[in-house]
Amino acid sequence: MRYSPLAERIAGMDRGAWDIHAEAVRRREAGEDIIFLTVGDPDQDPPDAVIEATVTALRAHRTHYSPTIGYPAVRQAIAARVARRTGEACGADNVVVVPGAQGGLYCALQCLAGPGDEVIVPEPIYATYEGVIGACGARMVTVPLRPETGFHPDLDALAAAVTPRSRVIWINTPHNPTGAVFTEAEIAGIAALCRRHDLWLLSDEVYEDLAFARPHTSAWSLPGMADRTVVVSSLSKSHAIPAFRFGWVVGPAALSSHLFNLVLCMTYGSPAFIQDGALVALQQDLPEVDALREEYRARACLLAALLREAPGCRAVPPEGGMFVLLDIRGSGLVAGDFARRLLATERVAVLPCDGFGPSAAGHLRIALSAPYARLRDAGERIVRFARALAA
Ligand code: PMP
Repeated sequence: MRYSPLAERIAGMDRGAWDIHAEAVRRREAGEDIIFLTVGDPDQDPPDAVIEATVTALRAHRTHYSPTIGYPAVRQAIAARVARRTGEACGADNVVVVPGAQGGLYCALQCLAGPGDEVIVPEPIYATYEGVIGACGARMVTVPLRPETGFHPDLDALAAAVTPRSRVIWINTPHNPTGAVFTEAEIAGIAALCRRHDLWLLSDEVYEDLAFARPHTSAWSLPGMADRTVVVSSLSKSHAIPAFRFGWVVGPAALSSHLFNLVLCMTYGSPAFIQDGALVALQQDLPEVDALREEYRARACLLAALLREAPGCRAVPPEGGMFVLLDIRGSGLVAGDFARRLLATERVAVLPCDGFGPSAAGHLRIALSAPYARLRDAGERIVRFARALAA
């Protein structure tokens, strides 16, 4: 039987980025004690208040269909949170509830770009972006984020990538996998580029609560951009609830209408009990979120300090997010071989960054998704591996 062109466009887009993870899972199933630092899945407990509200909602049988793009109270709470954080107006009609930031990125881009359009993305990219762009039939145009500039965007290079076919500049800050937190000036520069060339600015801010080096700047905070800015975020990372698949898209009210149509023919809405749980997290700044950010900051410091002892390696302290990059270009191995041999000899699973794009070649992405003691153990194993390699 024949499958659609879409089925082909979304296939094999992660360039083998997850092969090591799959190998680590096989080893664990065979009984090996593997330290998994591959997936950005928070290991912390979610806030009790969120869990209690969700359980209460289930017991109250909040199990019926819900409004397609979210309960008015939930959309209003997201809008109020965005307005509070950015200082720019945001109303419930600017907000659509979607299945996680991932669902939001997919839905939003479906409404922004199509066949023949170009979407400009700083690279390395988060692994799903290429598939999302492919699903639209649009073409991905990458612009390098270079290690020499701490993986911060180069505005001239971005400007040079604009063509008459460009439709969208898609940024991600705090950035996965590099940990860069773009500065306000950088984001303002990208916004100016969007205004000059009549482009959308799509901003993935899923790590917005995990900025360490400087405050997170939301694209929504930029004046004069409300008609062309789309921000996507979620509670997955900040509240350690990726299983909720709860996220949102913030953009012009007209986009919300298009997203309504898309969500109607796709998920038909977000579960009521999930929205009830999420509402508790949206209406207040729960102390658990600050605790989680400080935990990641401390873990990143610990790992970066330990890895200073690893010959041929240089840890890149993250400005935000939940990953540490390890530059292993001095080790004599390419990242894939380093990661495979590290897994085989020391049973630590990390991802080679080549799969996220060529600018991060020679780097490993180490997720900070293990408790302090286990992370220390992992760091010591990596140092031992690097020493054996150097000897
Ligand atoms: N964007 C980035 C950059 C991510 O790292 C992730 C999750 N790893 C997502 C989006 C998707 O997050 P969510 O769980 O909210 O769908």
